[in-house]
Amino acid sequence: MATQANKQDHTGDRAERAAVEGDYDAVVVGAGFGGLYALHRLREKGLSVIGFEAAPEVGGTWYWNRYPGVRCDVPSLYYSYTWSEELRREWRWSEKYAARREILDYAKYVADRFRLRDLLRFQTRVVSASFDEASGRWLVRTDRGDEIRARFCIMASGALSVPNSPKTPGLESFRGPIYHTARWPEQEVDFSGLRVGVVGTGSSGVQAIPLIAEAAKHVVVFQRTPNFSVPARNRALQDEDFKQFDAAFPAYCESLASPNAGRVNSSAFEAPIPSRDEQWRRYEELWQEGGGGFLLSFPNLLTHEAVNDVACDFVREKIRQIVKNPKTAAALSPSGYPLGVKRICVDTNYYETFNRDNVELVNLKEEPLEALTADGVKTSARQFDLDALVFATGFDAITGALFAMDIRGRNELRLQDAWAEGPRAYLGIAVADFPNLFIITGPGSPSVIGNMINACEQHVDWLTDCIDHMRAQDFRIIEPDPAAERAWMTHVAEMAERTLFPKADSWYLGANIAGKPRVFMPYVGEGYRHRCAQIAARGYEGFRLT
Ligand code: NAP
Repeated sequence: MATQANKQDHTGDRAERAAVEGDYDAVVVGAGFGGLYALHRLREKGLSVIGFEAAPEVGGTWYWNRYPGVRCDVPSLYYSYTWSEELRREWRWSEKYAARREILDYAKYVADRFRLRDLLRFQTRVVSASFDEASGRWLVRTDRGDEIRARFCIMASGALSVPNSPKTPGLESFRGPIYHTARWPEQEVDFSGLRVGVVGTGSSGVQAIPLIAEAAKHVVVFQRTPNFSVPARNRALQDEDFKQFDAAFPAYCESLASPNAGRVNSSAFEAPIPSRDEQWRRYEELWQEGGGGFLLSFPNLLTHEAVNDVACDFVREKIRQIVKNPKTAAALSPSGYPLGVKRICVDTNYYETFNRDNVELVNLKEEPLEALTADGVKTSARQFDLDALVFATGFDAITGALFAMDIRGRNELRLQDAWAEGPRAYLGIAVADFPNLFIITGPGSPSVIGNMINACEQHVDWLTDCIDHMRAQDFRIIEPDPAAERAWMTHVAEMAERTLFPKADSWYLGANIAGKPRVFMPYVGEGYRHRCAQIAARGYEGFRLT
């Protein structure tokens, strides 16, 4: 899509540099939170390591997502690395939910504090990685002519890093600028006096729309599926918050590794169904508290429709109370799928924004978007004249960044072909026929279902310990046994089936991308970390080490 954002060169001028060649122990693709920690840990273990990053800066998806209102929906004290006590003491978040700028500053601080920049080549996109059978090494090529060989290839390319840009008919004919939330320009976009269309009402749209509405003359929100959103109630952090967090931190770290940790744990299947009154009271408390903690209300919220239905009613009632126009309130009210099985949105004044005179909601279920024209957007019923358009249409999640590279394992097998019927990865970290390749937060691991930064850490710790073990035992190659991989992916699918997650067309299932196999990608069960640790302790059970 020729958007304003990618018409411009976001990466700025690429400083001249000689192409890198040579042999390394490990190569890391991506300098988001997974890649940064991988570089640190691998170097600490004495490996020669190099990292490539397409952006001119660290931060991964937080580098590219600069749309108005972008902030994390996980409390910042928890959206932090746990691996360095010093870092934890030195860094002080200013708000309960950190804005993108502060998260990026944190990533930069980590890169400087732990001297990671020397290991990185910025503004460099990895285009291919192929496994050479004879040498047992990966040959990695970049768009700047680099050609390096490495024993281990670590893909830290992100679960939500490749934008989903719909191929709407007439895209090229629209006269105004088109922005995508995940490729926003670096310089501030001034919407004042403009008529702006926003397509998409997921987390990005829900965060951006209230601020675009404050700036623009008129905003038309094109909504295909309404999402459940809860108020963030963001606020400045106080000394007391830090004290409480410090006191809770050891128990938090312990809880991550517990056999019961996970989005859905076994208590969900044993817990009684709470009464409607009890649920209503609890949801009200959590609504007032704000944030995605709403999903922690009852253990069986994501497994039992009888519970989930009440939560849906509760949020719809809130929408009716907030939004003055009953028709708009009805159109904003999600129905037909359970709450929390598409990522819940966490907002600031989202529903309130539809009470503004300059905001209009278009229900694309009633009047589908047909095309862009030179002057705006045409639905099946009307033409909307617009000066600028924003696509908040999300990402090709989890597999998108991997497929953007030409990754080939044994016998030139392409990852796309290996995953033609859906992704498969043992523990969501390693793939049969792709030896010594590790995917940080790959399909089949909890990844996007939990706290991404902690999920990245766990994968990095696990894979670096694995590499350590291989070196100590003089193993050269590790890859999953195909039977173990199949069994794991069956387990991942069975766990999802026991929950309400498959009951919505979500990006967790690949449903947002035409032609993408419908496979539930994240692991929603319990004890993932515990299981990974057990597998390692049993000599990497399910893996072949040679
Ligand atoms: P998203 O959740 O996939 O939402 C995309 C929106 O665009 C949906 O409303 C979708 O409608 C709509 N859409 C897609 N293609 C369309 C088309 N051709 N025509 C009309 N509408 C279309 O993407 P996102 O909002 O960028 O969020 C993705 C994920 O990133 C989140 O779930 C979250 O995990 C993460 N994120 C987090 C934060 C945060 O921390 N606060 C912020 C932003 C993003 P349908 O639902 O009908 O497909």
